[in-house]
Amino acid sequence: MDLQKKVIEKFLRYTEIGTPSVGGVDTVPSSPNQTVLGKLLMKELEELGLTDIWMSDTSVVYGRLPARLPEGHTPVPTVGWVAHLDTVGAPDVIHPVIIRNYQGGDICQNAEKDLWLRAGEHPELEKYIGQDIIVSDGTSILGADNKAAIANVMTALEVLKADPSIPHGEIYAVFVPDEEVGLKGSKTIDFDKFPVDFAYTIDSCEEGEVVFQTFNAGSAWVRIKGRTAHPMNSKNNLVNPTVIAVDLVNMFDRAETPEHTENTEGYIWVTSIKSDPLNATVSLNIRDHSKAKYEFKKEYIKAAVEMVKMKHPKAEISVEFEDVYANIYDAVTDDNRKCIDYIYEAMKELGITPKTIAMRGGTDGSFISSKGILTPNYFTGAHNFHATSEFMPMGAVEKSVLMTLKLIELITKG
Ligand SMILES: [Zn+2]
Repeated sequence: MDLQKKVIEKFLRYTEIGTPSVGGVDTVPSSPNQTVLGKLLMKELEELGLTDIWMSDTSVVYGRLPARLPEGHTPVPTVGWVAHLDTVGAPDVIHPVIIRNYQGGDICQNAEKDLWLRAGEHPELEKYIGQDIIVSDGTSILGADNKAAIANVMTALEVLKADPSIPHGEIYAVFVPDEEVGLKGSKTIDFDKFPVDFAYTIDSCEEGEVVFQTFNAGSAWVRIKGRTAHPMNSKNNLVNPTVIAVDLVNMFDRAETPEHTENTEGYIWVTSIKSDPLNATVSLNIRDHSKAKYEFKKEYIKAAVEMVKMKHPKAEISVEFEDVYANIYDAVTDDNRKCIDYIYEAMKELGITPKTIAMRGGTDGSFISSKGILTPNYFTGAHNFHATSEFMPMGAVEKSVLMTLKLIELITKG
């Protein structure tokens, strides 16, 4: 089977349906096209021989491929693949451009608008000379994040269907909406319908990337109610919530901000101060790879709020926290760590050099792992997620499909 041809064909089909996730929307999915894509995938899962195909009211799609094992085979763990339907900030229409047999140099994405992927700005392009490369038309992202993963899983399932001699255990495919807006889709997964021993996402960039360390992430909102008064009688009377908000922000360490941290250093990010003469709200993002340090940051915010309360006794000040996701690594146990070992074993057999990354962010696996299903993440093969310079070198994308198939093989062998 020509894997590259299969993946390209599927990717282009999924890309025809623009599936932006929209922030600040209460409903899941946040855009109707995610449901449209989900329905298309349900049809394809059925054609590929999956059973128990189901879509939830939040457009999470589930499918189960029953095990196919020779009689007397030792039990094989049940494994899931999770990919997300949404793409970040995408328009409803994406125009992919296929560059056949890339020969180096700049890539013209859009002649009419004079948009280019410049080799000088993207020296990583050089590694893919001789490969077919898919780019967007330069006016939007491409959406390899995460449609390359959906195409990957579907291609692997097609390979299994086409060759009945390949044994495998029970496999689940789950497609979720709204990963890019706080993992909202995966938070609605019905885990009774996803009874796997462990799972994988295919949601990082270049060939070799492995992610099983992510941030612990949370948000906090400090709400301040002051008192307004006419300047005629404001002395000892007016309480200014804007000034109190500034006092609070000044208590945070200026070295522990996103712009001053890297690798596994955590931060508190003051994302906004919204205020008027009566009310102020300070919004904070809290991130740390270490669970203990993450919890300490929350305690620090609480203590800072108490200090500000003492300083401004006439104001009403409260703080609310929400945990958004957790570090995948905290879900690793002696029993399940084998699912990470399989990734390295697969790379070794396929001659891929692993590049392990502590991700300064989260993936669906950050939430799913916190529910007891360890879900590490490996590369799609694409570059520059979330940018108009996003591109898919098809040789690397094919390697990612081979990873999926190799993982199935290794898990079946045990
Ligand atoms: Zn993604």
